Amino acid sequence: MVPFFIKYGPGAGMPGTCRRRECGDIQPAPLLTGPPPRFMSCGMEAPFWKTKKLEEMSRAEWESLCDGCGKCCMAKLEDADTGEIYWTSISCRLFDAGKCRCTDYQNRLERVPDCVGLTPDNVRTLPWLPATCAYRLIAEGKDLYWWHKLVSGSEETVHEAGISMHGRVSASEDDMPDAEAYFDFILAGEP
Ligand code: SF4
Ligand code: SF4
Repeated sequence: MVPFFIKYGPGAGMPGTCRRRECGDIQPAPLLTGPPPRFMSCGMEAPFWKTKKLEEMSRAEWESLCDGCGKCCMAKLEDADTGEIYWTSISCRLFDAGKCRCTDYQNRLERVPDCVGLTPDNVRTLPWLPATCAYRLIAEGKDLYWWHKLVSGSEETVHEAGISMHGRVSASEDDMPDAEAYFDFILAGEP
């Protein structure tokens, strides 16, 4: 297997009780076809991620979709023969493991050439976006999970639910002597 180092970053569709803190109504299962309803059964306007396509979101809406899990800031190894992705617990050099976020998000693309800026197009095609990534969920027509800050109202729930990389980072790429060293930090699966 020939290791290929890749790294990237930005940066449930079930019926149930509306999780918007100011609501509490029982919501129907989302429609699988046709345009999403603009209003929920309680009469409140549906949140933007339920009504807008990724291309229609404002910059602020787009940025707010990131749940802060930090998974996309972990180094991965790609099997050059099979294309299979192996996740590691080694973070990008700009990743603050304590705060679980990029330390220079505005300048990340200039400072880290292999950091990939997410777009409405590439979130539909990148094979390594984690299954929990909000951009991937919306691109696949799914809803955000309860622990997403836009649903829960708290940036802590992604950590409390064990979804994020908080407390799970072994080291920074700056600590890796060579590409071979990454093999010791391959995870059993997608974190
Ligand atoms: S939600 Fe997606 S873009 Fe944001 S940190 Fe998690 S994996 Fe990365
Ligand atoms: S530059 Fe920032 S956003 Fe990009 S992978 Fe590194 S820590 Fe993540």
